[in-house]
Amino acid sequence: MPVYLDHAATTPISGPALAALTSVISRSGNPSSLHGSGRRARATVEAARETIAKAAGAHPTEVIFTSGGTEADNLAVKGLFWSRRDAEPQRARILVSAVEHAAVQDTVEWLEKHEGAEAVWLPVDEDGTVSLDALQKELADGGADSIALLTCMWANNEVGTLQPIAEIVALADNYGIPVHSDAVQAFGSVPVNFKDSGLAAMSISAHKIGGAVGVGALLLGRAVKLTPVQHGGGQERSVRSGTLDTAGIAAFAAAAQDVTSNMAAESARIAGLRDSIIAAVREAVPEAVLRGVDPGKHPDKRLPGNAHFTFPGCEGDSLLFLLDMAGIESSTGSACTAGVPRPSHVLLAMGLDEETARGAQRFSLGHTSDQEDVDAFVKALPDAHARAKKAGMADHVSSIQTASTR
Ligand code: PLP
Repeated sequence: MPVYLDHAATTPISGPALAALTSVISRSGNPSSLHGSGRRARATVEAARETIAKAAGAHPTEVIFTSGGTEADNLAVKGLFWSRRDAEPQRARILVSAVEHAAVQDTVEWLEKHEGAEAVWLPVDEDGTVSLDALQKELADGGADSIALLTCMWANNEVGTLQPIAEIVALADNYGIPVHSDAVQAFGSVPVNFKDSGLAAMSISAHKIGGAVGVGALLLGRAVKLTPVQHGGGQERSVRSGTLDTAGIAAFAAAAQDVTSNMAAESARIAGLRDSIIAAVREAVPEAVLRGVDPGKHPDKRLPGNAHFTFPGCEGDSLLFLLDMAGIESSTGSACTAGVPRPSHVLLAMGLDEETARGAQRFSLGHTSDQEDVDAFVKALPDAHARAKKAGMADHVSSIQTASTR
């Protein structure tokens, strides 16, 4: 079995979630149908809604089920933008952090291209933390009455930096600006409470916490107006039409209950493994640089399961490929287009140059991770790194692929 160090991409389904999924999926019934099977499916969905609401600190009516984090982000950003601009046409600006996941970043760029939005990208510091000064300045000087919404992720998927959501919401609140947060990486790993946060909307996803792929939710304040993205049967407060995935939702609830009931102990366990990985990388490759917040200094400002490094002189894809050949599954943390690696926009926003950013590698841990994983990683890293460095930055994949067939 390979050593899986890519839990931020997706984490294996948990025992309770699998049990819920398999028990519900064999039953038929559309939760919108009025007969017995429909009512039974509806009862399953509503019980799950309550469980998820409790786990996320929300009221059950605030849970809008979606097909995942991407859809929840699209619904929040487009829906808030459209409803605010329809009510007040001058509200065309969207304040958005420079380090968002593509589900938010590309949505904002789409709104710019097709809907006349204007994005204001909020800068981050070298650890990837959004600048509150820049936000304050933008709100005070930039004409707050032209702002439709603010969107800022709770935790970054590449470097694991936790954003100061409470401070951001407090600033935006002074100007009555609704805030959306993509909490897909944060929910289940660190304490997240929708009500206490003061957010207007918040995205979460099942497969990042041990549920099945293809289910998520947008938590949406009861008074918040949102224009729907998709139209149809009017399910989910008429905000998100489409037949609900009863089994996936039941599994999502089981996973949410599982991760939140034991979060403090499990996060501490995972953070311990993460710290071992950081120490091992620093020892084996002293020139490697930890990106994001140093958990030795600020343990509460980094996701417990995230370790992210840049390896000077290495192409991230090369290292990924060589580690994979040694049975270690990791990630560069950012997307590549048609096999061509692009430097991460997150690392560039943190001030790295393109070449340094291309040497990125993310190791992310989760509920199946253990000391044996760390030991296997520690054993495999020096050789994979030496070979990746030899391959260098040029023609990396083809040279390694040629080498591997010899
Ligand atoms: N937002 C963040 C921060 C993510 O890490 C991801 C998944 O990688 C998503 C959104 C998308 O979620 P989903 O895969 O459920 O569509």
